[in-house]
Amino acid sequence: MIRYEGDIYRPPSEAHSLILQATLGCSYNRCTFCAMYRQKRFSQRSLTDLVSEIGWAAENLPGVRKVFLADGDALIAKASFLAKLLDEITLKLPGLARVSCYASPQALMVRSVEEMSLLREKGLTLYYLGIESGHDGVLAELEKGVDGEEMIAAANKATEAGVKLSTMILLGAGGRELSCEHARESARVVNAIQPRFLSTLVMTPVQGTPLFESAARGEVEELAPEELAFELHEFLDSLELTSTVFRSNHASNYLALAGNLPRDKEALLSELRAALRDPARAPFRPKWSRGL
Ligand code: SF4
Repeated sequence: MIRYEGDIYRPPSEAHSLILQATLGCSYNRCTFCAMYRQKRFSQRSLTDLVSEIGWAAENLPGVRKVFLADGDALIAKASFLAKLLDEITLKLPGLARVSCYASPQALMVRSVEEMSLLREKGLTLYYLGIESGHDGVLAELEKGVDGEEMIAAANKATEAGVKLSTMILLGAGGRELSCEHARESARVVNAIQPRFLSTLVMTPVQGTPLFESAARGEVEELAPEELAFELHEFLDSLELTSTVFRSNHASNYLALAGNLPRDKEALLSELRAALRDPARAPFRPKWSRGL
């Protein structure tokens, strides 16, 4: 059977995927807002254990179409380890459509384009990358460990290797004062990356994080739903994308929007403008229902 250690996290779009814990924790583990792997020490799991779990899945879970490699940044594991793991996955689970994983900017800087190309040929075709912001000051405050230009360079290595990117932006991460700059700078970075998928999350202080401690000291401005809608409007308005699927359906969002960009840009903007004109009638989710 499959053994999981600690809490397991996966993107919403991997809800029906087989999750294999290729690594435990996050090797970086310093982003101020992230509580996911604070309790775990980073390690690479044993290939023997994983091979036996893949064998169990092949016998007991017919029809697996997607595999998600957990935990926080499986891409930082040795390329030779990932290659052997992918060989086993594709051998034992022949109906597979894709394998994906989270990729921190640090992992993208470490892996070479050649390594990522090889892993892509073996099935690892999609990375989830938390850009969070394109604003250097906000990125520094979040302790992402990279600035906007480094984020672009790291992400574009994946694109060069033929790997699709699903990227996330953290609405509200600049507080009130930097809201517009955070929106526009984030759009600038996203435009330079041209990800296949793009989603927004809302920055939320979660217990056990430095952000939560700052919020408890009254040092974090949490934006109201209308302010977040305005920020999202500024962000979307500044996007110049050629072929990106956009979603704001993560549980943390107050407004769930979806569309393909550039085709649906005007429709999404007018939805946001309508919500800003008449917030009382807008379909904002109440804070308690956001599933956090
Ligand atoms: S790189 Fe990702 S998983 Fe690691 S601490 Fe930052 S947000 Fe969390």
